[in-house]
Amino acid sequence: MEIVFDKGIFIPGLDLWLDSTRKKEFCVVSHAHSDHVARHNVPVMTKGTFSLLKDYYRKSNPVVVDYGEEIEYSGFSLSFYPAGHCLGSAQILVKDKSTGLRMVYTGDYKMTPSPVNEDSSVIPCDVLVLDATYGKTQYIFPNESEIIQTVAQILNGWFLEGYRPILEGWKLGKAQEILFHMLNHGFKVVVEDSIFQICKVYESEGVQFPGTYRLFEGDWAADEILLCPPNRTKKLMVQHYSAKRIMRLTGWALDYASGTRYGRTMIPYSDHADFKQLLNYVGQSGASTIYTVNGFSELSGYLMNLGYNASHLS
Ligand SMILES: [Zn+2]
Repeated sequence: MEIVFDKGIFIPGLDLWLDSTRKKEFCVVSHAHSDHVARHNVPVMTKGTFSLLKDYYRKSNPVVVDYGEEIEYSGFSLSFYPAGHCLGSAQILVKDKSTGLRMVYTGDYKMTPSPVNEDSSVIPCDVLVLDATYGKTQYIFPNESEIIQTVAQILNGWFLEGYRPILEGWKLGKAQEILFHMLNHGFKVVVEDSIFQICKVYESEGVQFPGTYRLFEGDWAADEILLCPPNRTKKLMVQHYSAKRIMRLTGWALDYASGTRYGRTMIPYSDHADFKQLLNYVGQSGASTIYTVNGFSELSGYLMNLGYNASHLS
């Protein structure tokens, strides 16, 4: 099965686009992050993704599917499975009717169970298109529940020393996981507007956070965590709160051995698969042909050394 990359994934034999960032007549959308979408005429996506992109696609004719549902087209069928990355995120199984081949595109995915996402699993296939965001050997994330414990300890320490904590995480996906974990630890959390609006969409889709949180409107009590997207503190005008400390949760924290960068405490916590999970996926999928996409081309070289037929799409 020939697969090419041109600002999106394209299967010429099926005339099928996935995650194109240029407008197409018909295109599968794996999830709602902006680097995976464009204003297609007929976007195909899960209910959760559509609930996040309802306004964006108000002039389109979207096809909205449930996880596990199979939809038939003339040369192929499409099924969507949880990807564990953010609300509605999906892995897509494409069955080619003429050859019988099964192709899986993982999209951005994470295998570690998340309290706000449906659990993901490996989808058996012949051809695998694997997101390689962390496709380098050094990106092995620490145990996630231990990381959350560490975060809670650091925050408690900051409160004891009289500092207000700011937690930074991407507004869709990461922020909702962080919010869940912080509420679960009994912290009070005040939430920046864009994150707050997305939390409300999560709730409309059935996600229940273990406590209450409030919208940040300028006031910030000394016993509250402020949750916001990265680099938003200037815009929030919190400069006059002089005793504050910032923590960023990102997989790229592994790049900084000191654990600090840009005046922030960097914590390795990601909404993507780490290198180990990438290798596990390849092994368990049974795929004989692997295309890696995004991230690092080193992963395809590593897989070739292991004997796989692998290449990087770019
Ligand atoms: Zn994403």
